[in-house]
Amino acid sequence: MRIGAHVRDDLDPLGAAEQLGVDLVQLFITDPQGWKKPQPHPQAQQLRESTIDVVVHSSYTINVASLNNRIRVPSRKAVDQQAAGAAELGAIGLVVHGGHVRAGEDAEEGFANWHKLFERQADSGGFAVPILVENTAGGERAMARHLDAIARLWDAVGDFPEAGFCLDTCHAWAAGLDLSDVVDKVRAITGRIDLVHLNNSRDEFGSARDRHASLAEGTIDSAVLVEVARAARAPVILETPAETVRADLQLLADATS
Ligand SMILES: [Zn+2]
Repeated sequence: MRIGAHVRDDLDPLGAAEQLGVDLVQLFITDPQGWKKPQPHPQAQQLRESTIDVVVHSSYTINVASLNNRIRVPSRKAVDQQAAGAAELGAIGLVVHGGHVRAGEDAEEGFANWHKLFERQADSGGFAVPILVENTAGGERAMARHLDAIARLWDAVGDFPEAGFCLDTCHAWAAGLDLSDVVDKVRAITGRIDLVHLNNSRDEFGSARDRHASLAEGTIDSAVLVEVARAARAPVILETPAETVRADLQLLADATS
């Protein structure tokens, strides 16, 4: 099992990987709260040439499902730019949240917007790295919260070769998905899980709240989390608090060795 962590210093992922003793890291390549185009990364060549695997997490501002042009249009552009930036690092994928439409809007149009994202990009040769759609914790009109939504989303994007899936355990728990069989149920829909975000939660099952906790300390039994990681047969990224990442890596290593 390939296990890594989201690093805090986006400019020195190699240093972070070495410090943590991991061979897989996740990072942002631009301000996650903004729309700026990623700048050339100082470790791009080293990352491409190293044995360290890289995953890029896209900005939180992105919502490709949005019916609002002022959000959807820059979102498409940002996904394209950040996928290109991820390719510069030799990344295995770009994580993009499923997004949502607003109250009173038709979710079907949101799924159609996801389809258009890939369709338009296909005209210019496709995305530079796989786009790993991540399930989300809350919202009534989310594109990737409940399993029925994920199924509709996959009807819209599943035929595009760059469409992949990232399963976040904290988000799934918050969304009210049973973690004991979530891997099988998601895989039955998508045919794939490309990445796991293995996080515990500070909140109760079905809370719709997105507050990550360390593997040993949240409201999810850590043994259940270990089973998700094992069943997924995909690389695992921890997005747990900085203070406990080492302990979380150790817990996972002990449980899976
Ligand atoms: Zn996540």
